[in-house]
Amino acid sequence: MGNYQICDFCGNLSEKTSRKMCKSCEDGYIKVRSIVEKYPDTMVIDISRQTGISTSKILAFARNGFFILKEGTIEGME
Ligand SMILES: [Zn+2]
Repeated sequence: MGNYQICDFCGNLSEKTSRKMCKSCEDGYIKVRSIVEKYPDTMVIDISRQTGISTSKILAFARNGFFILKEGTIEGME
């Protein structure tokens, strides 16, 4: 026990992961990332529409250093 964390993105208590986010946010992150990698010029609003993940959460990923925000689009980070 004690292997839990508060997710930085939705505030849910979840099992610890390397990315400090819960499993469902991590799934979202991976979805967003796969679109960004294939289509780097996709607008955040379109990524949101395609993935069903809110723009505010996508922007939160960017704020936390998972993506770089660029004029309405985002770029993957390595
Ligand atoms: Zn979460």
